[in-house]
Amino acid sequence: MKTQLNESQWQALLKEKNAEPLAFEVTRKAATERAFTGKYADFWGQGTYKCICCGSKLFESETKFDAGCGWPSFYLAADDSPIIERVDKSHGMVRTESICGNCGAHLGHLFDDGPEPSGQRYCMNSASLEFEPKK
Ligand SMILES: [Zn+2]
Repeated sequence: MKTQLNESQWQALLKEKNAEPLAFEVTRKAATERAFTGKYADFWGQGTYKCICCGSKLFESETKFDAGCGWPSFYLAADDSPIIERVDKSHGMVRTESICGNCGAHLGHLFDDGPEPSGQRYCMNSASLEFEPKK
């Protein structure tokens, strides 16, 4: 990980960025926001989604789709995104966790029931994301 801060530094940084109250729990403790509560679940602006913690580019709005699940969903990561996957065996399930490879932030989970062309669904937490509108 390139960006490494301790917990109180992350808390201070997220507060400074005016992140959602859940952002620390989600990104640093792998919590999940409740479905249909995140600000990007039903948001369709044109632009780029970045990691709320370190600002790395993660997704383009063109790859966002309505999965009906209550979380912002993407079928493809951005070309130069640092997203990495790892196996998550928490909560009695085996899932693929998506994290930011630059700072280690938990973003959400990756499922293989997405639309073509990738067949993948990045099921993300709004609290992990920061949207930058297209200029
Ligand atoms: Zn990050």
